[in-house]
Amino acid sequence: MDEIISDMVKNELQAELLGAVKALKGQVINKNSLSVGIEWGNKRQTIKEEKSSSRSQEELLKITCQEMSNCQLCPLGKTRKNLVFGSGNPEAKIVFVGEAPGADEDEQGLPFVGRAGQLLTDIIKAMGYQRKDVYICNIIKCRPPGNRNPQPDEISKCEPFLKKQLQIISPKIICALGTFAAKTLLNTEIPISALRGRFHSYEGIKLMPTYHPAYLLRNPSAKKQVWEDVQMIMKEIKP
Ligand code: URA
Repeated sequence: MDEIISDMVKNELQAELLGAVKALKGQVINKNSLSVGIEWGNKRQTIKEEKSSSRSQEELLKITCQEMSNCQLCPLGKTRKNLVFGSGNPEAKIVFVGEAPGADEDEQGLPFVGRAGQLLTDIIKAMGYQRKDVYICNIIKCRPPGNRNPQPDEISKCEPFLKKQLQIISPKIICALGTFAAKTLLNTEIPISALRGRFHSYEGIKLMPTYHPAYLLRNPSAKKQVWEDVQMIMKEIKP
């Protein structure tokens, strides 16, 4: 009888011991996973903090636009109705850079909204995009009176803002529309007819020069070459 009782006690003790060991193991496993969790948690927290302290591309563009909203660095500040900063997707893969606002753009404060703008919109659509998918801006942000060519001094005063804009958006491709955009961004005197049809580099970003839509309105036969240029852009974006 005594033996039976002692066996029962032994069994109970063994069972208790086994339970305690399992519980301990469980704690160890939980502790490990918890400590890993804590590390992940910290990392995530850091990324979250970094994200909330760093500004979005949209915010940075807004700040840059505000910075130049009262710009009087060149004489065009006196004659403009509206500064035309740029419009579209702040995270666009493609940025189209034109020359300067015309009368319609000056009136509305938006780039490429006149006849040349309509043609640019058609080109963008033919590429499979909408205007809101890409970003559109100009080399200079204020209209030269009478649509005269931008002066070197006006271009050089405005260029840092364009540079900042492109740095913020950081697109995959820049499409320079026409002589002024291509020559300014590539710092060259080579004519657009010789530049177009191949990629160049602007601050490490691929740049395709092509004819300006206003030129296409006067020379519709050049549309074929523009189509070749934008097809190269499309292949680069969606291989
Ligand atoms: N031409 C340009 O180069 N830019 C505009 O915004 C409109 C016409």
